[in-house]
Amino acid sequence: MGSDKQYDGYRSYDYLDDEDYTQIELADMFSGFDPHEVELTADETDRVEQLVADETVVSLHDHPFHFPDDVHEDLWEYIREGRVHTAYEFLTETPLDATFDMHLDGLSGIHSKHGWKWDDIVHDISMRACDIAHSEYALQCGSVADIHRAHDEGKVAVVPALESAAMIENELDRLEQLYGMGVRCMGITYNASNSLGTGQGDIYERDGGLTAFGTDAVERMNKVGMAISTSHSSPQTTLDVCEVTDEPIFDTHALAQTGGMGQRGSSDEELQAIADTGGVIGILSSTHLPDLETYMQHFEYLVDLVGIDHVAFGPDVLYGDHTSLLEVLAEFHGVELPESTMENPYVKGLENPTEAWNNIPRWLVKHDYSDEEIAKVLGENVIRVLDEVW
Ligand SMILES: [Zn+2]
Repeated sequence: MGSDKQYDGYRSYDYLDDEDYTQIELADMFSGFDPHEVELTADETDRVEQLVADETVVSLHDHPFHFPDDVHEDLWEYIREGRVHTAYEFLTETPLDATFDMHLDGLSGIHSKHGWKWDDIVHDISMRACDIAHSEYALQCGSVADIHRAHDEGKVAVVPALESAAMIENELDRLEQLYGMGVRCMGITYNASNSLGTGQGDIYERDGGLTAFGTDAVERMNKVGMAISTSHSSPQTTLDVCEVTDEPIFDTHALAQTGGMGQRGSSDEELQAIADTGGVIGILSSTHLPDLETYMQHFEYLVDLVGIDHVAFGPDVLYGDHTSLLEVLAEFHGVELPESTMENPYVKGLENPTEAWNNIPRWLVKHDYSDEEIAKVLGENVIRVLDEVW
């Protein structure tokens, strides 16, 4: 966060008139939960302020946009309207210079109930890009120079990214089209398998790993300069991608499975394989953890396992009531939410990008990480990979 935020008050689609599209009331920054801030001494607070001013801060995985205020009532109409609102004003209250933006992903569904269709993904990416092009504060990030520019000019660089390659179907050229539309990072699979490989949700049936087409897709992404993420891919798909790729890869949002972490996450073997490509693993919070302390346990475990050069943060949070969102989605899929979700309806200290990105540097300072270590995990590690891949 180089200089003060250059925010002029622009809100999404301000270039249109009210009657041009359906207006939906959007969530406030802290609607539905009590924010929590890591307590620091005055000296520690000064150190945090200096660090985030000097260093470049990058989120490897978030959904930095608004959901409706009443998710139960308005979610589907908001999605069908096809105008996701970037949370510009709330992002000014983070130290972020850049954020990977995972878009609506499988929720992108103007034409489809089940998501991941080419038309819907193109609609979501291009509509968001049009809106961002009208903002003075945000810029669509296509290069590392854009991240440095955002840092120097008090802006936020938004990196278009997707969590699955399902929408390319059997068309390798679509990778180049998506790159042309701005996409700079893409997952191989979501939880469901696709033409590239086995997804994390299918491993109980059979883990077939990366397909021949998936191998071609990895090679094309390497050539095009699109970063690859193995988040949501099966263990074998992850290991196969690490084997095939010529470039370092990301797991943009991951938890550890072992070392007493007790989470359904990635095995040590997968995490080590990603690090061995020269890649970086972002620590996931989302709905899976009760609080910041548990989140940072995963961080410390990963640092011990793969080394601090290969760890970053990808909290995977959004602006809105995520528990209601999970309820609506569970109802749609005809499944019950796990009890653990309802035990911890809010992630204490990490509920949205503003809370997460203010608390992460505070926690690192409180726990005596050095300036050099903090700089690496807040942004330098991710930028090192992007310098190679992009
Ligand atoms: Zn995800």
